[in-house]
Amino acid sequence: MWAAMAIRMGYWDCPSCKHKRIDGPDAECPTCGQPREDDIEFYTDDDAAVVEDPELVRQARLGADWNCQYCGVDNKAGKVECQTCGAGPDGSKSREQRVIMDAPADSEAAPGPAGTAPSESGGKGGLLVVLAVLAVIGGLVWFFFMRTTDAKVTVTGSTWTKTLQVEKRTIEKKEAWADQVPSDAKIIKKKKKKRLKRVQDGTKKVKVGKKDLGNGMFEDVYEKRPNMVDKKVKDHWVSYEVIRWIQGKQMRSDAKDGAEPADLEFQASKKKRVGKRTSVLVVTVKTAEGTSHSYDVDLSKASDPAGKAKRYKKGQKFVAEINRMGKVLELK
Ligand SMILES: [Zn+2]
Ligand SMILES: [Zn+2]
Repeated sequence: MWAAMAIRMGYWDCPSCKHKRIDGPDAECPTCGQPREDDIEFYTDDDAAVVEDPELVRQARLGADWNCQYCGVDNKAGKVECQTCGAGPDGSKSREQRVIMDAPADSEAAPGPAGTAPSESGGKGGLLVVLAVLAVIGGLVWFFFMRTTDAKVTVTGSTWTKTLQVEKRTIEKKEAWADQVPSDAKIIKKKKKKRLKRVQDGTKKVKVGKKDLGNGMFEDVYEKRPNMVDKKVKDHWVSYEVIRWIQGKQMRSDAKDGAEPADLEFQASKKKRVGKRTSVLVVTVKTAEGTSHSYDVDLSKASDPAGKAKRYKKGQKFVAEINRMGKVLELK
C-alpha cells in the first residue's frame, strides 16, 4: 500500500564540480560549496527515498524556498533572513512549485524493448517526419488529381435517370443480455442466468504524478478513480426479434437529351416500402480537341428539375472545370 501523500527526496546536480544527485534540501554543494541557484532544477524518481524525518516533512510542507535577490542563495520558507548575507525575503522570488504528471500506465505497457522508453525528442522527431510525409502526399494528390484546368466544351447529349430503392421487411432473431436488447425489440423469451459484469466497487487512489515543492522535496500526487471489479450477478438472457429493412430490388427509369423520365411509382405494403430515391442527369461534353467528359447534375433536390435539365441542351457551350482524372467539376 502507498503511504498517504508520501514526501520523496529530490535531487540536484552541481553545475561547477558536476557532483550528481545532491540531496534536494541541501542549499550548497557538499563538494565545492557552490550555492544551489534559482536556475537549478530538482528531479526525483520512483526509487527516491520516502522522507520520514519529521523535521524534513515539516519543512517540505512549509512551502517553496526563496532565492535571495542579493547573493543568490536559497533559503527555506519561514526564514526571515538570508543564511549567507542576512538580507530579508522582501522582493525575493520563491522557487516554483509544479506538478509533473507520470506517463499514462498504458504507454508503459506498449510493446518495445524491455526497459527502454522512447525518448521525448525521438517521439517529437517521429511526429515531424509523419507530418512532412503527409504534406508531401497531400501535395502530390493535389498535383495529380485535384489540380484543374478550364476548357471550352459543347454538350453532346445527356441521360436523366431516376431510381427508387425498394426495401423489404425481415425479422431477425437474436439473443442478448437484458440491458443490450434494443428498445424496439419484441421479447420472445427470458431466462435467468449468472453473468460476469464489470461494476464499480468504491474508489481507489492512483498515483498520477509528483509535485515539485520548490524546496528540494517532492510530494506524490494522487487521483481518486472508480475501482472496477468483475462480479457475478444474476441477469436476464433474452431471446428477441427485431424488424430490419433490407435492400430489395432497385427500380429505374431514364430518358435522353433533356426529356424527363417517368416517375417511379411503388405501392408500399406491410412487407415492402420505398427507400432512397435518386434523380441524376449525366451530361456528356466534348472539348475542341474532341475528348469527351461527363458531368453529374443532382436533380433530386432541385425545385424545378425539368427546367434545370433543359439548361444542358445538345449543342450548348460551357466552360468546364476539369480535373486531372478527366472529371468535370463544374460547367460554367
Ligand atoms: Zn559542486
Ligand atoms: Zn543573501
